[in-house]
Amino acid sequence: MPIVIAIDGTSASGKSTTARRVAKHFGYTYIDTGAMYRTLAWHCLVRQTDPHDEKAVTAVCRKWKSSLVNVDHQVRMLVEGYYPEKEIRTSEASAAVAIIAANTKVRDWMKTLQQSCLQFGDLVMEGRDIGTAIFPDTDFKFYLDAPLAERSKRRWADGVQEDLAKRDHSDSQRASNPLMIALGAMVINNAGLTIEQTSQLIIDEVHRRLEARRY
Ligand code: C5P
Repeated sequence: MPIVIAIDGTSASGKSTTARRVAKHFGYTYIDTGAMYRTLAWHCLVRQTDPHDEKAVTAVCRKWKSSLVNVDHQVRMLVEGYYPEKEIRTSEASAAVAIIAANTKVRDWMKTLQQSCLQFGDLVMEGRDIGTAIFPDTDFKFYLDAPLAERSKRRWADGVQEDLAKRDHSDSQRASNPLMIALGAMVINNAGLTIEQTSQLIIDEVHRRLEARRY
């Protein structure tokens, strides 16, 4: 059974950069599940499907021609063969994504897809519900957070203007698999920590838990 390192946490808590570093350290495949939700949100916007229209979004999700490809140990989601790398990071996509992510049928579809990623071998998967819903049995769970003011500053520095508090609220209050700290997760508040320090905390803990498994 492949190893899954699950990294969940709030928006702009440094999950992506940290998860990439951890994956590189162990030689595992990195998967950004937020990008999968963003890709669907972007696709709905392009098709002029209202993100609030649950039936219409569910229909798009069932029918769209998406695929996953593994490029140098990083999984990308394509739509009709196209990789919308930049498009999914706009303010519009960020505003739409939490709405479609609250759709239970979309979450069911994503869960099946994300669990199928075991085909890529050992994984570092980041998102909001990886340790609670996608791979709840993994021994390697982490939860990243930082104060809202610090996270907002990071988003600004990335050139993206958005209401993080609103997205946090929507992600943690939705009925279906809300953002929560998974049982057994190591919680890291990385305010004042560099990405290297945060990554190292995770790497050390994974080594410790791997070692503990042997006995
Ligand atoms: O991680 P990122 O900020 O790119 O995620 C975008 C959005 O996708 C989140 O705010 C959340 O609404 C949704 N998401 C989710 N479950 C995941 C990953 C992301 O609901 N596992």
